[in-house]
Amino acid sequence: MRCRKCPRRAVINLARHRLALCPACFTDFVHQQVARAIKRERMFGPQERVLVAVSGGKDSLALWAILLKLGYRADALYVDLGIGEYSARSYAKVQAFAEQAHRDAQARLYVHRVPQKEGAGIRELAILTHRPTCSACGTLKRYHFNRIALEHHYDVLATGHNLDDEAARLLGNILHWQTEYLDKQAPTLPASVEGFARKVKPLYRLTEREIAAYAVINRIDYVVEECPMAKGSKLLLYKEILNQLETAQPGTKHRFYWGFLEKRAHLQGTNNLSMAEYDRQVLTPCTVCGQPTTAPICTYCKLMDRAKGVPVKSS
Ligand code: SF4
Ligand SMILES: [Zn+2]
Ligand SMILES: [Zn+2]
Repeated sequence: MRCRKCPRRAVINLARHRLALCPACFTDFVHQQVARAIKRERMFGPQERVLVAVSGGKDSLALWAILLKLGYRADALYVDLGIGEYSARSYAKVQAFAEQAHRDAQARLYVHRVPQKEGAGIRELAILTHRPTCSACGTLKRYHFNRIALEHHYDVLATGHNLDDEAARLLGNILHWQTEYLDKQAPTLPASVEGFARKVKPLYRLTEREIAAYAVINRIDYVVEECPMAKGSKLLLYKEILNQLETAQPGTKHRFYWGFLEKRAHLQGTNNLSMAEYDRQVLTPCTVCGQPTTAPICTYCKLMDRAKGVPVKSS
């Protein structure tokens, strides 16, 4: 099979675009998709500083690599969750990538170590606080990404969520009619109030398979195994179901998620209260740490108080 753009041999067939591409043209295609996402969703400009949340997996490392190749000022943050060998292997991949990124583009890596700073790994913290591990993990990661982005004056925080992640999340939110989450599901979430960094997902136009192919072609060494805590997660089930639909009808995922974004933009245009205005009305600084929250004390501070066995009190 020949590449659709040049005479070389194609190595990947993108059924949803009816496009077979060679390694060089596929790499260009991925860069164009990310550049288009950044422009179309007004994520950030060339002078803005971006902090990428990296886990050692293919999506976040590919995102960091692509932003640097596109010439953006991108540094990264790794949160060590203290999940035994898995965290050790993930960190090794992140560190090796970061050393190269520093040599090539003076990029910098921040590391937050949960076992040292919070006093226990994420599994132990979840047991202590009677929370599901992924829920405690989400609270911790959101808190520290936001904190470090603000402390070091980054304009925007970028995560490696891809089209599969976003379509699976959308399916879950619709199945359970979690409309409050639907409102917040967008490739760009503006910094609606003081104390919240802008959040963007520049890979939302690319599938998991496309990002894995990009990582292999561009020799990005990533941790292949999933986090052991993801086993049995609903999101994985939704991804599997969407993959079955995609095989039968190429383009399903992209029509599902992009269609939602179009309808959402239309609905917001007709809604008097924008998401940013709504946030400004309901968010106040946490009385303990100062990060914006809807309650007197934010979820992170409550979690940490519970982990220490201290009753939650506002100051
Ligand atoms: S699977 Fe759960 S514990 Fe593991 S990184 Fe994801 S949210 Fe955190
Ligand atoms: Zn080609
Ligand atoms: Zn707080």
